[in-house]
Amino acid sequence: MTIDLRSDTLTLPTDEMRMAMARADVGDDVYGEDPTINKLQELAAELTGKEAALFVPTGTMGNIIAMLTHAGRGQAIIVGDQSHIYHYEAGGASTLGGSPMFVVPTHKDGMLDLTRVRASLTDESDDHVARTALVCIENTHNSCGGTVLNQDQMQMITDLAHSRHVPVHMDGARAFNAAIALGIPLATLIQNVDSMMFCLSKGLSAPVGSLLVGNQEFIRKARRIRKLLGGGMRQAGVLAAAGIVALTTRVERLVEDHANARLLAEGLAELPQLEIALERVQTNIVIFKVKSTHLSSDEIVAPFLAKAREHGVLLSEMGEGRIRAVTHHGIDTAQISTALNGIKKTLLELHP
Ligand SMILES: *Cc1c(COP(=O)(O)O)cnc(C)c1O
Repeated sequence: MTIDLRSDTLTLPTDEMRMAMARADVGDDVYGEDPTINKLQELAAELTGKEAALFVPTGTMGNIIAMLTHAGRGQAIIVGDQSHIYHYEAGGASTLGGSPMFVVPTHKDGMLDLTRVRASLTDESDDHVARTALVCIENTHNSCGGTVLNQDQMQMITDLAHSRHVPVHMDGARAFNAAIALGIPLATLIQNVDSMMFCLSKGLSAPVGSLLVGNQEFIRKARRIRKLLGGGMRQAGVLAAAGIVALTTRVERLVEDHANARLLAEGLAELPQLEIALERVQTNIVIFKVKSTHLSSDEIVAPFLAKAREHGVLLSEMGEGRIRAVTHHGIDTAQISTALNGIKKTLLELHP
């Protein structure tokens, strides 16, 4: 049996979700008349401590709606050079919104370089540069290995941006993983961010959907942008029903994914052929590299992934020679041991 560690997006809806979907009360959500969507949005607002929420089809759409809502044409958005928004969302805000991106370095723990953020917060009286309208952060940080920005780090960023009257949007695709890892309510962690997107479709196991949260005025504008992008859905309560089950039953169990990731990382750290930063394994993502003195990362990664697949372990690549494993509710502790064995065999054959 294969153990699929490529992503937590591979999680399948639970039986309880499927039942709730079948029974969901629905209406036309573009008219605001889908009771299940409305209930999910209220729940999301409550759990995140924000005034309002908007159901969106994907996390990518949630992020772009936030950017188009906060920043107008010609207004710049500060993003991290390792961020999902910058790398994996097809350049949305620049392409569709006409917003240039000011790219700042990201530290290994997922924190933006504050000196560079400060320098990129442009002075309104300077006619040479685009005015900065938004700072985007990511928590947990995917490319950094699921690292968590804590409350102090969050506050440093929001204080800096707000001191220049610039709002902060958090790409919180895995925001609940961050809160669970810190042991604090998500509402506390994000109390100073102006808007946030989180995914129902990753570790929380719902089949489809993300939520955008913020104040009433922001969500009212965001709703219009969602329509513009073609994201206004009709009887989408069938999807929201699974989301409600996700938020009410699947949040606390993320600790299991974190424990399994830790177990996997500790096992990998014992293998001399691998390089792994254990201190950065904080949630459900494990990133490692295969050491080599003579092979390029291209020569290492593709054969490694192919061989691991032969041994029943599916992993993904993150560029620069990095290999990623993500734990999720389809993976239990026994499978972690099996996966470690598969990886050991892979290394024995390729890098003895
Ligand atoms: C998955 C992910 C997204 C986008 O979510 P989709 O629903 O796949 O569009 C955004 N940001 C981060 C950090 C992600 O991991």
